[in-house]
Amino acid sequence: AAIAFFFLLASLAVIVTVAVIQIHKKSYVSPGLKYGIVLDAGSSRTTVYVYQWPAEKENNTGVVNQTLRCDVQGPGISSFGLDTKQDEKTWNSFNDCMNKTKSIIPTVQYNGTPTYLGATAGMRLLRSKNETAASSILSTMQQYLQSWPFDFKGVSIITGQEEGIYGWITANYLMGNFVEKNLWNSWVRPHRAETTGSLDLGGASTQIAFSPEQDSKPNSTIAVVMYGYEYQVYTHSFQCYGRDEAEKRLLAALVQRSSGKSYTENPCYPQYYNTTMNAKYIFGSQCTAAQRPADYNPNQRLTILGTGDPALCRKEVLSIFNFTACPGEPNCSFDGVYQPDITGKFVAYSGFYYTTAALNLMGSFQLDNFNSSTWSFCSLEWPKLQEMHSSVKRIYLKSYCFSANYIYSLLVNGYKFNAQSWMQISFQREVDNSSISWSLGYMLNLTNMIPAEADLVKLPMTS
Ligand code: AMP
Repeated sequence: AAIAFFFLLASLAVIVTVAVIQIHKKSYVSPGLKYGIVLDAGSSRTTVYVYQWPAEKENNTGVVNQTLRCDVQGPGISSFGLDTKQDEKTWNSFNDCMNKTKSIIPTVQYNGTPTYLGATAGMRLLRSKNETAASSILSTMQQYLQSWPFDFKGVSIITGQEEGIYGWITANYLMGNFVEKNLWNSWVRPHRAETTGSLDLGGASTQIAFSPEQDSKPNSTIAVVMYGYEYQVYTHSFQCYGRDEAEKRLLAALVQRSSGKSYTENPCYPQYYNTTMNAKYIFGSQCTAAQRPADYNPNQRLTILGTGDPALCRKEVLSIFNFTACPGEPNCSFDGVYQPDITGKFVAYSGFYYTTAALNLMGSFQLDNFNSSTWSFCSLEWPKLQEMHSSVKRIYLKSYCFSANYIYSLLVNGYKFNAQSWMQISFQREVDNSSISWSLGYMLNLTNMIPAEADLVKLPMTS
């Protein structure tokens, strides 16, 4: 009887255990994926990002990934209203990207999908020139996004500081630098809690953000609190130092200097490349307003001839920076801006990545390699360059030599990277197929997806 009783008990225990496991499993059946949409309204174009994450793991780290990146063809939204035909094309491409998002997200999820539009330096510049035009574009974008079946949350022009911090959050989130699972499966701060610095080169502005080793100047960093831990992050956004605006500022300086001549030589464009453009292409920007000639005529045709001279290009590029604005201050990047010493690893994305990729350099590589590749690239004549890169758009191809020299000046002369610290930079566009861009950090913050145990980011609202 005792043996029978024992077997009965054992079978009961097995049945109960199996039942408990089943119930447990059931409660963990995935309730599916959730989605979020962010439109990055940059100066040179708009990019639509769709992110997804498992609904039941909303507050875990590293669970959000990008499921769609769609580049809207045409210029950025700050150019709306300048050319009706172009606007029509851009709107069509907007529709194409938004239709793609519709086809990716299950219909039942549409109204639970938050949608944000954040505009950056192109719109910051337009707002400073013409506030009415900027507000009108934003309200058009708002109406447009409200016409889609998603949960529209708002359009806004983000500050340069936000752009820098959100880029830093994205890079570190994607790299898993904030928290990791320990042996007991709980989320903890990584043992070597190091973060990576973030270098973003947009069309109109460029951002640097990193957590300095020691900070000598009060109030120069921002407290970013995540997963119960506070990070002190230095960031600065340099308006008019984006790739496109920097190139316009160089062209403005070269045109100014060649006044009286029928053409302007540009050592940063390839030999035998020539182009003509309206003066307003260069001088119509807020970033070149101070360089406008006294007799400025927006429709005057200007001829630019490339001379493909890397040494002269590097010298000319230096002239768009002001290195004398903070005499006696060792911690100064340029234009009188305070910067603590750079430290640790960095990731350089967007414009930094496109340019180095064009030179066949990706990830980490030596500064010497970068220089020799730049020199070889800049020495190629335009017909040869086109033959070698037949699939690359002309507007990008003609400018890579400028961009490479600009990147050198910005990183080496500006931020003070040297041959050693340069090796700490990884030039990359993505982490595990998700783009490094401020947009992910922006969404994580606005949807409260990074548990703070305190407020996530406290940013003063200055540009
Ligand atoms: P974005 O990442 O769209 O903010 O672009 C940043 C900068 O890179 C802008 O100056 C763009 O003109 C430039 N850019 C974008 N795509 C490419 C590309 N495929 N090749 C070269 N430059 C690019």
